[in-house]
Amino acid sequence: MAHLAALGVLVLLGLAPNPLPAYDFYPPGVGSSAGAARWEASAFPLRFRILDTRAFPEYPGLNAEIWREIVLRGISAWVKVETADISIVLDGGTLVASKADIDDGINTIGFEAREDWGDDRASALVSATGGRMTECDVLFDPAILDGWPEDDPRVVAWAAHFLEEVVMHEVGHCLGLSHVPANPVWLGQGANAPGWPPGFLPEPLSGLSSDPQMSTAASYGVPRLTLDDRIGVSLLYPAPGFLEGRGSIGGRLVTPEGEPAAFLYVQSVDYASGRAVFGPGAFADAQGQFLLEGLPAGPVHLWARPTLLYMERPGYQKTRVWDLLDEHRWFSVRSGVAVIVPEIILGAGRSPP
Ligand SMILES: [Zn+2]
Repeated sequence: MAHLAALGVLVLLGLAPNPLPAYDFYPPGVGSSAGAARWEASAFPLRFRILDTRAFPEYPGLNAEIWREIVLRGISAWVKVETADISIVLDGGTLVASKADIDDGINTIGFEAREDWGDDRASALVSATGGRMTECDVLFDPAILDGWPEDDPRVVAWAAHFLEEVVMHEVGHCLGLSHVPANPVWLGQGANAPGWPPGFLPEPLSGLSSDPQMSTAASYGVPRLTLDDRIGVSLLYPAPGFLEGRGSIGGRLVTPEGEPAAFLYVQSVDYASGRAVFGPGAFADAQGQFLLEGLPAGPVHLWARPTLLYMERPGYQKTRVWDLLDEHRWFSVRSGVAVIVPEIILGAGRSPP
């Protein structure tokens, strides 16, 4: 039902939208969960095996046993998402091979020496046909910890956390999530500095949400899954009842002059728990269109605000989007329904300093 409703959004807007939600799926840019590739229910529990290519990194405290525990912790973050139905099993033993084989029918996680690692230190190879995911192999560069101090116990402990975070990120790819942009980029520029006008953030929020685990800028450094990650994966594998209590809001942001407010960031604020927390967000596309799926039914506060940089949009930096004013507005999310807002006119908001 919710999937059909989301399709309705795209048709009703009548354009070729390419909004970027804070969760994205395969193929990248598909935009909504409706056409996203995913594992069939019968594929669960997904089984993974540790791949042993005899290329294990040499680092204090890191051995095969510890590595297995790190992998298990990275995987379990996704299994623990309460709104999603995900089960993953890490098989005992290892698969000994010279390299990962994306067509062998076995999902693996392991270190593999490759010529083409470049700046990446880990990667998820995903195989999918006809919208159905069939295999995933997660590869780590054996040199991932090269240059890390080996004599400082705090750094050694941090290295294990770091590897766990990377496992979490790559397993997110295996489940069908692709990269999303970092959260509102201008917010990285001292958003909580004293120079900001009072009340610029929605009351009573005083801080900003962190980047999603699946965001490009945050790759390899987010210790947990954010609400964006959890809702994204729940749209793919909804736990019983999840979709029935959720709805979508799509719309188009325009300037007071009627021009599309391109590339603004639209973030939901959720008061359902009795306190305000940021919910999922999305970047509007070049036509100012956005789509937010998986919002809890009830009143939702949307905050549209400018971004400073958005390097994944060609020509973005030539647009003066940071001059646009922000806008706060309340909407009502209805269960199983996609609410379409034809125009959200940015009012006399406040410019960042
Ligand atoms: Zn990635």
